[in-house]
Amino acid sequence: FGFKGCQKIHGPQIRNLLQAKDFFLFDCDGVIWHGEKAITGATTVVNSLIRRGKNVVFVTNNSTRPRENYMHKFYRLGFTDVMLEQIFSSSYCSALYLRDVVKVCGQVFVIGCDGLRTELQEAGIPCVEEEEDQPDATIFTCPLAADVKAVLVGHDDKLTFLKLAKASCYLKDPECLFLATDNDPWHPLSSGRILPGSGSLIAALEVASGRKATVIGKPSRFMFECISSQFRGVDPAQCLMVGDRLETDMLFGSNCGLDTMLTLTGVSQMEEAQEYRNSDVSTNHSLVPDYVVDTIADFIPAFEE
Ligand code: PLP
Ligand code: CA
Repeated sequence: FGFKGCQKIHGPQIRNLLQAKDFFLFDCDGVIWHGEKAITGATTVVNSLIRRGKNVVFVTNNSTRPRENYMHKFYRLGFTDVMLEQIFSSSYCSALYLRDVVKVCGQVFVIGCDGLRTELQEAGIPCVEEEEDQPDATIFTCPLAADVKAVLVGHDDKLTFLKLAKASCYLKDPECLFLATDNDPWHPLSSGRILPGSGSLIAALEVASGRKATVIGKPSRFMFECISSQFRGVDPAQCLMVGDRLETDMLFGSNCGLDTMLTLTGVSQMEEAQEYRNSDVSTNHSLVPDYVVDTIADFIPAFEE
């Protein structure tokens, strides 16, 4: 009697799995690319699945670009068959959440990159204007907007203390929602350095406000709800979620009732998955992948006769 999950699969098992599933959800960074470089074999895999009539979508927690921009990136890196409708980013899904779930009437205060604002604008969500650089502005003197109904926090490479201070003030109003594009703690850079993720900014605001943010991106189910509402008749039993991070991708798959696959080209390693599997804490078992492959390039033989 062994533990369930963490099954390293090869040749014929991969072929059977790819035949059995008809809906593939791919995380982006660490699975199909590293920053600006496609992972070896990933373009062949994605293009082959699409040409075989499989449904393929991409679920990324990266909120910094609008979907348009991702489409160009996919094309540039050689994923020539990917269309806008297949891309689900935490910025796009945050815009859908504000528009369709919250039906926000009032402004949104955004901590994030321009790409996040662009997605909100396209969905018709009004955002508090970013002020031009005013080196003397402080929280003692700066104006605050009167009709802020949500604070949305994502990755922001121009974060300032003033932005954190303003967000904290808006969050004092219990009617003002506290949303996060994602809660990723950090991201690896190809140089071996790391980038603090949205999660680190959200932690600062959670402490300052004494509140908990609602997370839109993985591992929250909302991204899957966006996918289901746009692809009719998606059956979770027919889906495979492929990702590189246990705490986001595998948990997302488990939360949505999908089979999960960890690729070892990104953040998480086999040992961490096995630790979660062997853990006595039962909630840790939701982070255990059903299947493990070294890289999605291991799919390629399954496409050959
Ligand atoms: N957010 C930012 C700012 C990132 O740089 C990255 C990865 O590089 C991510 C999120 C994670 O993206 P994904 O969910 O595609 O792994
Ligand atoms: Ca990833």
